Amino acid sequence: MINKKSRDDVKRLRHAGHIVALTHKKMKEVVEPGISTKELDAIAMQVIKENRAIPTFLGYNGFPGCICTSINEQVVHGIPSENVILKEGDIISIDIGATYGGFVGDSAWTYPVGKISDDVQKLLKTTEESLFAGISKMREGNVLDDISGAIEEVAKRENYGIVRQYGGHGVGRSMHEEPFLFNYKVGDRTLLKHGYVIAIEPMLNMGVDEVEVADDDWTVSTVDKKPSAHFEHTVLCTEDEPLIMTKLME
Ligand code: MG
Ligand code: MG
Repeated sequence: MINKKSRDDVKRLRHAGHIVALTHKKMKEVVEPGISTKELDAIAMQVIKENRAIPTFLGYNGFPGCICTSINEQVVHGIPSENVILKEGDIISIDIGATYGGFVGDSAWTYPVGKISDDVQKLLKTTEESLFAGISKMREGNVLDDISGAIEEVAKRENYGIVRQYGGHGVGRSMHEEPFLFNYKVGDRTLLKHGYVIAIEPMLNMGVDEVEVADDDWTVSTVDKKPSAHFEHTVLCTEDEPLIMTKLME
């Protein structure tokens, strides 16, 4: 069952989302060649704690980090490590979750490290575009498939692989609630209603859609080792425009 959020729930969600956005703002400042993903994790932890929130991912199913850091061909769930040092030309997908007042904000962004190649830049730009195409369909009266289809259309235009095994999800008191949201059309006619909150999160690959999980049981990578990008916002369906929960409050 998909639960509707009350006005009070939404206030807390928005606060959690603001803290996630603050953490991303900091990540954008500090991502550069030479920094390790472990250092990024420590900095993210500091921002989340300074804002009296809880890092949602830490300990989630045993995950050892505060954030997920996935480099280049890694898609999602990369574990922060002192041995992973960013290099010029890399990309890094950082996924951040913060819990505040019992509610979760969840947002991911792929950042360039220094200067990246034009084709990888296009992958980032297109994946971000597919996120916002999906968000634009988060309207009362639409169905889940409308969001999935909007994402798929942008991805297909560039012939990118759409990751099949992972997708968006309801968010609230738990990070993963119903419904599951595919990033391609599956014929899901579930109606969107005001008060629904969904993390929309396309993961697009420059090559094939197939991915595999590493021996650490977490890190997901493309099987052809081509780069992958991941952009995610937690979004509220209203009676009017969709509202992004995971951006900075004015
Ligand atoms: Mg996430
Ligand atoms: Mg998510």
